[in-house]
Amino acid sequence: MNSPQPNPLQLNSPHSNSPQSILEHTFGYTHFRGSQQEIIDTVVGGDDALVLMPTGGGKSLCYQIPALAREGCGVVISPLIALMQDQVEALRAAGVRAAFLNSSLPPEQAQQIEQALLGEQLDLLYLAPERLLQPRTLDLLHRVPLSLFAIDEAHCVSQWGHDFRADYLHLNCLHEQFPSVPRIALTATADRRTRAEITQRLDLSEARHFVSSFDRPNIRYRIAQKDNPRRQLLDFIRNGHQDHSGIVYCLSRNKVESTADWLCQQGFNALPYHAGLPADLRAEHQRRFLREDGVIVVATIAFGMGIDKPDVRFVAHLDLPKSIEAYYQETGRAGRDGDPATALLLYGLEDVVKLGQMAANSEGSEEHRRQERSRLNAMLGLCEITSCRRQALLRYFAEELPEACGNCDTCLEPPQTWDGTEATAKLLSCVYRTGQRFGASHVIDVLRGSRSEKVLKFGHDQLSTYGIGADRSTAEWRGILRQLVVRGYLEVNSEAFGALQLTEACRPLLRGEEQIELRKLPAPARRAESGASRAAADIAPEHAPLWEALRACRKQLADEKGVPPYVVFHDATLREMLAARPQTEEALLSISGVGDSKLQRFGDAFLAVLRDFPH
Ligand code: ADP
Ligand code: ZN
Repeated sequence: MNSPQPNPLQLNSPHSNSPQSILEHTFGYTHFRGSQQEIIDTVVGGDDALVLMPTGGGKSLCYQIPALAREGCGVVISPLIALMQDQVEALRAAGVRAAFLNSSLPPEQAQQIEQALLGEQLDLLYLAPERLLQPRTLDLLHRVPLSLFAIDEAHCVSQWGHDFRADYLHLNCLHEQFPSVPRIALTATADRRTRAEITQRLDLSEARHFVSSFDRPNIRYRIAQKDNPRRQLLDFIRNGHQDHSGIVYCLSRNKVESTADWLCQQGFNALPYHAGLPADLRAEHQRRFLREDGVIVVATIAFGMGIDKPDVRFVAHLDLPKSIEAYYQETGRAGRDGDPATALLLYGLEDVVKLGQMAANSEGSEEHRRQERSRLNAMLGLCEITSCRRQALLRYFAEELPEACGNCDTCLEPPQTWDGTEATAKLLSCVYRTGQRFGASHVIDVLRGSRSEKVLKFGHDQLSTYGIGADRSTAEWRGILRQLVVRGYLEVNSEAFGALQLTEACRPLLRGEEQIELRKLPAPARRAESGASRAAADIAPEHAPLWEALRACRKQLADEKGVPPYVVFHDATLREMLAARPQTEEALLSISGVGDSKLQRFGDAFLAVLRDFPH
């Protein structure tokens, strides 16, 4: 049998455009992750999709591959102008004909891109929503074949969220004006309300919905009582995150500045970032964070939205986030590349007081303030629980994790607890006896036998539960209560003035068939990170010279091209090179993350390094 002639130009020749082949040749990966394949098949087949996937889940491929597999140019709508350039650069490095149009481009360049679009020379075009909605842009789009519309950060259509963009509301015009072009909307925002809003406002009720788990298994959650926060932070970084990129969040600008200064004195490459700094300095610090290795940004929450850096290895909170949503979002900036990362939160009583005051004094209605307060309480509950943090976190987003995760502080070093069964039974029955219509303060007043006006008015001094909890302070009861809320035994009904209500889960407790362990308050101070739990990303000493050489090679190529190092290759790809030590182009191509285009561009440089270190 004749074997086909080897094709010397094979690397350049257009390969089959099946999703699998694009995944392998263009992106250098072998397998689809999670529901990527189903999503891609849906869009390639011309149907609409709504995709809810956590940060780092791999949303980009869900529209990039269909855009390449289908005829025409794919239009990506993204609110984050700052990100477009990096995304386009990363695509170009993979050999994809991508471009962006936004207000930052000089007119000549914009015109060139429009010409490329009209000449059908683009696979993907990134647009800000306001640009897309200009009649001129819509007109342009009507003149070329389009493969799809991808609506990224689709939660921006939600008026309840903090990222609301009025322009997103008009995106339903795409459906009307381009009925035959499939749309895929994507977001990492988990809650049902946002999802319902996206569906309704973007006309996606006919679309297939893909809801992934919001678990981020590679992020290790650690929450500790504040003891000596600077010392705790230092221990944490030195034990497992030395030389890593990270973000440290503080509440105030002053604290951002002083913490960054202090980290620099300790020998770290730390940069401050907050809204009070001049715009060009902020941009410079953001740029250095993206381009240089091992930079720590100390920031207020002003920093983050629009940071797409995949290799952030830790996020540390020196102040308590306002809500679990905020905590999840901020910690979610760690480990997008799937490698081990840690989220450390240090909290203390002062945070609780400060945030409570902020919630109480915030603008808006009484209802709004109460909701802020209850979000804060849920966040505190997460801090205080003794069971798996990840389970509680996911439960907050209505997701059940069947088993404890083994990768959070409470799983790794079970905290000190006490048998709270009796106290819990008292509290739950008091909630029940008062009719599940009252908030925490009143229930605790009844428990402690207060003669407050409200207690007397409702005759609650006549209840069997009146005064049965006089042995504990209000603060202790609040601590117990918060733990019960976050563990799902009690709900705070925000539609009924914060009334506490029993859930199904508490039946066995009320019947005395279940024991409950509560966290001792205050939790004992503990050293942050131990050697045993060092991030797996760490490199064995004998491999260090090659590792450093690979990183230097990546940095040099990145600098030459003016892109961040991860646009060349991710850490995971370098680590695979380290383990496999490929010596030929073929062997290099089998490394995950090395596709045809990257082999061509960067292959020789990396092979030269690798050949200096044979197996
Ligand atoms: P998201 O937009 O959901 O936050 P990204 O699309 O940026 O996530 O993907 C996160 C990381 O996972 C990226 O580094 C991406 O290259 C990588 N990735 C995505 N899909 C795959 C896959 N099928 N195989 C290997 N790596 C993948
Ligand atoms: Zn756990």
